[in-house]
Amino acid sequence: MKLLVLGTGTAIPSIERGSSAYLVVTRGAKVLVDVGPAVVRRLLEKGYEVNDVDVIILTHFHVDHTADLSTFFFACNYGRVPRTKPLTLIGGKGLTRFYRGLRAVYPWIAPKTYDLTVLRLVNDSRKVAGLTVTTVPVKHNPESIAVRLEEKSSVTFSGDTDVSPNLVRLADKTDTLVVECAFPERKVKGHLNLAALDRMVQKAQPRRVILTHLYPDWDDWPGVLHAPYLLGEDGMEMEV
Ligand SMILES: [Zn+2]
Ligand SMILES: [Zn+2]
Repeated sequence: MKLLVLGTGTAIPSIERGSSAYLVVTRGAKVLVDVGPAVVRRLLEKGYEVNDVDVIILTHFHVDHTADLSTFFFACNYGRVPRTKPLTLIGGKGLTRFYRGLRAVYPWIAPKTYDLTVLRLVNDSRKVAGLTVTTVPVKHNPESIAVRLEEKSSVTFSGDTDVSPNLVRLADKTDTLVVECAFPERKVKGHLNLAALDRMVQKAQPRRVILTHLYPDWDDWPGVLHAPYLLGEDGMEMEV
């Protein structure tokens, strides 16, 4: 499968780093992980549009991870070609309430020409569009989940999180771990820094680690990263 890094940023507006989001492309499916501000347009830059996406996974409901969800749904109804293929929306605790809230504010996002499945998935595995999707709760918001997608290979997304034994278990020997590392050095509650992340990586032993959700602290950080770490950049593409 192929991983496209759509954004590696945070709530802080940045030209270089859009809000953290990723597209996973397999033979059978396209999975969008998080839909923060301007992610619908980021898809276009990569040659995809909303109707190509089969599954959306929300790691949590913070605005920098969900703001463009309404844009996405609106485009499914009123884009160049109205959407006909089914869409699955996966998230943690409170997903249905969150989705209904969006529909209350934006009635125009209710699916008109396609089927939408809203699937709350926590501490569980499900086969979706030919992929095994597994989620665990992580430490950030009550609804926060980390997600592992598995076909022949696997990619695991931490979402926003603090130190999490659940994430260590989920990421066990995963091929690629896409993990928040908000700050290189300072430690902020609900997020990771390099030292805290490294202790988890030693246990989980992922083959490759892409750092994302990067605050401006990273811009003038003088350190050097070594394997398995790679500093995430918007637009990165790789085979997993
Ligand atoms: Zn965030
Ligand atoms: Zn967050």
